[in-house]
Amino acid sequence: MMPAGRFAPSPSGELHLGNLRTALLAWLFARSTGRRFLVRVEDLDRARAGAEVVQLRDLATIGIDWDEPVVRQSERTELYEDALRALAAAGLTYECYCTRREIQEAPSAPHAPQGAYPGTCRNLTEAERERRRAERPAAIRLRAGVSEWPVTDVLHGAYTGLVDDFVLRRNDGVVAYNLAVVVDDAVQGVDQVVRGDDLLPSTPRQAYLAGLMGYGVPEYAHVPLVLNRAGRRLAKRDGAVTLPALAAEGIPAERATASLLASLGLPPTLPDALAAFSPAALPRDPWVIDPSRWTATAS
Ligand code: GLU
Repeated sequence: MMPAGRFAPSPSGELHLGNLRTALLAWLFARSTGRRFLVRVEDLDRARAGAEVVQLRDLATIGIDWDEPVVRQSERTELYEDALRALAAAGLTYECYCTRREIQEAPSAPHAPQGAYPGTCRNLTEAERERRRAERPAAIRLRAGVSEWPVTDVLHGAYTGLVDDFVLRRNDGVVAYNLAVVVDDAVQGVDQVVRGDDLLPSTPRQAYLAGLMGYGVPEYAHVPLVLNRAGRRLAKRDGAVTLPALAAEGIPAERATASLLASLGLPPTLPDALAAFSPAALPRDPWVIDPSRWTATAS
């Protein structure tokens, strides 16, 4: 299978400038290295009716193309359940009955890193499991054999982060993002993961899980986010931060695209940007914009 890069939006609303900038980067990384480019709709959670259609339309509007029909995670639950069965058969999962509150209030194990699952349900007896199972539905956790794991990132270099007994399937039956993303990337032949750098802390978990499942670990590039003047991720209340909202302010998609590319130090059209693209030359810091002023000055 020819290797691939991908963009994997969650259809929770419209794509804003930050999402579009990440999509452009994912496309540039893939196309500049001769990879296929895939779009995957991550709709296990947070899906809003109609959002997918609008997101795909906006991606196409800024010139992004993809090589295969879009896949939806909600249509792939069998794949994730197969993966869960394989992990369970290898003794790598256990049921967890903890509430969020119980986890917060549990004394953490000595030397356990901040934010790690305290291991409450890791070594229950079968009798205890029977009792807890009757109280509430179980989540499935990974029985991790490490507490941290190293990854290499094109933009961040060596990065080591927490791996705990993270959730693979929530207690409402929904497969966790960390499992779905690892299975999907492997099954789809994705060997290059470009996404917002807010996801860098999840990456050691995913790379570790990929290794356990016998999958290759993809190349990672975690790209800087777009932030508002308060240092927060863009949101609707920041003003015109989506293509339709910008169009309503008289800024056509070509100008928005050109501005996004300019913020990356790239020429204004996608073909020219592709010819000029070099990961080493990319900015490493967030792009801070004031959407109201940006609207007035978009190049
Ligand atoms: N669906 C995730 C998001 O929109 C991205 C996951 C990924 O790229 O691995 O934040």
